[in-house]
Amino acid sequence: MKKILFVTSEAHPLIKTGGLADVSGSLPKALSELSQDIRLIMPNYRSVKTNGHVRFLCSLRIDNRDVNILETRMPDSQVIVWLVDYPEFFNYPGNPYTDELGNAWANNAERFALFCRVAVACAMDRINQGWKADIVHCNDWQSGLVPALLSLEADRPATVFTIHNMAYQGLFPPSHIMSLNLPGQLWHQDGLEFNNMLSFIKGGLVYADRITTVSPTYALEIQTPAFGYGLEGLLAYRREALVGIINGIDMDQWNPETDAYIAKRYGVASLTDKQANKEALQQQLTLPVNAELPVVALISRLVEQKGIDMVLDCLPEMMTMPMQFVLLGAGDKDYEQRLQNLARLYPDKMALTLGYDEALAHTITAAADIFLMPSRFEPCGLNQMYSQRYGTIPIVRKTGGLADTVIDATPQTIADNTATGIVFTEASSGALIEAIKRSMLLYSNRKIWNKMQIDAMQKDFSWQRSAEQYLDLYENI
Ligand code: ADP
Repeated sequence: MKKILFVTSEAHPLIKTGGLADVSGSLPKALSELSQDIRLIMPNYRSVKTNGHVRFLCSLRIDNRDVNILETRMPDSQVIVWLVDYPEFFNYPGNPYTDELGNAWANNAERFALFCRVAVACAMDRINQGWKADIVHCNDWQSGLVPALLSLEADRPATVFTIHNMAYQGLFPPSHIMSLNLPGQLWHQDGLEFNNMLSFIKGGLVYADRITTVSPTYALEIQTPAFGYGLEGLLAYRREALVGIINGIDMDQWNPETDAYIAKRYGVASLTDKQANKEALQQQLTLPVNAELPVVALISRLVEQKGIDMVLDCLPEMMTMPMQFVLLGAGDKDYEQRLQNLARLYPDKMALTLGYDEALAHTITAAADIFLMPSRFEPCGLNQMYSQRYGTIPIVRKTGGLADTVIDATPQTIADNTATGIVFTEASSGALIEAIKRSMLLYSNRKIWNKMQIDAMQKDFSWQRSAEQYLDLYENI
């Protein structure tokens, strides 16, 4: 049994802005079910939703600041959570990283540097709990300084750093190396410096004993200029230490047989009941109720990464096809505006919901026939796995985790029961529209479509498989 400290800046259901929270909610739970002694540490933001049982654990003085550690548990699991309580940095409304207008908090470097120092103190048991970590597993730039700081410690735990998205690196002006009081020996080109900026992510990429990312394809992609954001050389240099492990999904929360959010539950044996969900959604979103028309859905942050620009280009042509289009998302204001303009033009064919809505995400995933995910890059992606589990056939671009989790429908894959979606290669609206046309054609062949749905629903996307791979990795450091 290993003592693992899991360092993260968000964890579902305590707080969530994206896929990192899903991983942090599920992986520690799966590892504890594999009998590991795992604790999760994260900041105590104002919006953290605990189930009420929070106790004061200890306080410590770090960098001339008095920090409290509070202890709670992940709801529905035995995983212990340590909340780093420093109100001056974390007791703010809104998002962990940005203010209500979407601007990064001005003191993010100070906030997450303090968080990292506290994580190091906990890992080394400077808080006198009789619990010193064997493994410290860090996630994304917010915890990047942890492997760097630990590298300076004698008798330190082994470190793992997981990249959930290379696009977010935690870059700050070089003056911070002084103001954050970071050890000078970390400040050089093969350390925390990146183009004369302080790079938090490099703390993980340079100093962690092992680097992981969330799919095998993304692990290769980030070693190339198109995906590496200038760090491809470093990643290629560390390729022996780098491995891609695909994320699992929460099989309890995303289960069409038990999902409490959806109008009618269904499974492989009762697939026709999926139709009732489509009707319910059409009513809810005031679209014409029509069982025959395929409903194409998209649920996403509305950012460039997700290929929203390509979807916008395709929408006028999609609106001439026999389909309905349902979109749930929030993000870039320009995308939101353009989508709103189109939705107004096609009230009978398109339903747009701007905002973040967990319940509606489930309703749509159950109701739709086709799920669009034309990402320009996608480290792992979750929605394509959720939709497969719900018999909602995904259209994805062949990148990152999408390439690893969806098998394109070809005569061969249809024949051998492995096809579960439609995969296209080029990041262009032309290629996307071709893929959409291909899905329409497949949809009209009910026999093939049903077979694909069932094969998709039966795929194993459980966390257990991924957790076993992480455990292997911990054991082999
Ligand atoms: P990313 O982490 O890049 O946003 P992922 O596919 O890995 O992408 O994870 C996205 C998660 O956030 C999924 O759980 C998805 O269902 C959810 N999500 C994204 N946008 C919304 C929204 N507007 N409403 C509800 N859930 C959303």
